Amino acid sequence: MRSIDTITIKNTVKLLFIQSSYDIGDTMLGMLGKAKENEDNDTARYVLDQIIENDLIARNDQVPMCQDTGIAVVFLEIGNEVCFTGKPIEDAINQGVREAFEEAYLRKSIVDDPLFLRKNTNDNTPAVIHYEFTRGGNVRVTIAAKGFGSENMSQIRMMKPADGVEGVKSFVIECVRKAGPNPCPPIVVGVGIGGSFEKAAILSKKALTREIGERSEDREYRELEIELLNELNSLGIGPAGLKGKTTCLAVHINHFPTHIAGMPVAVNIGCHAYRHATTKI
Ligand code: SF4
Repeated sequence: MRSIDTITIKNTVKLLFIQSSYDIGDTMLGMLGKAKENEDNDTARYVLDQIIENDLIARNDQVPMCQDTGIAVVFLEIGNEVCFTGKPIEDAINQGVREAFEEAYLRKSIVDDPLFLRKNTNDNTPAVIHYEFTRGGNVRVTIAAKGFGSENMSQIRMMKPADGVEGVKSFVIECVRKAGPNPCPPIVVGVGIGGSFEKAAILSKKALTREIGERSEDREYRELEIELLNELNSLGIGPAGLKGKTTCLAVHINHFPTHIAGMPVAVNIGCHAYRHATTKI
């Protein structure tokens, strides 16, 4: 067994949230630049220019790229040869989030009771944590700082198996069309297909932690990602919803076996502040 003190997890979570809030990463910057070259609409080019400039200022000045610094989502993949020592793992993760949001001046956006009190917890905790158990002696920590302009536009539908590929396509397109400018396009679309009601939602969320544009390993799903990307960009919503060819930068689909009687499909929309990071300990 390999012992890992949960203080290491705390420090990793903290670092990943700070880094991803300040630095969008070269791949995303490259995609925004290419999208700008591809636009022939002046307004679309201007908006993309502003987004790129904003992201570069955030990186160079070490400031958040957006005022909404998101809800903290953490995926923890724990190998079966790992034994944690120190504080309980959940406390360590929340301490990492607390320190990141305090020390890096990230906006605290979490309210305790979601319906009646809605009192700010003032440290952006608790994080939403997903635990997965794998083989080996490592822990993978993956984080997403998810803004709610895009989160609010996400949807899930319990589809019938007979709805097939065309049904899935129509649903994804309908979600993005209805969302219009609200999720701060250009967006990244995470799609989860299969499992149960909650599994589909988690699949779609995890799809938004993939490096942007990284395609599914399965040919059919890969082709569907490309097809959907083209269809979403033909909607003409454009950057900031001001029309143009760039509504969506990437579609990521994750799938899982499901019940013979159904086909859950979840669509989780990510904004252009595509903040995620992953590392192996
Ligand atoms: S949806 Fe994204 S870009 Fe828009 S305000 Fe929220 S975090 Fe910022």
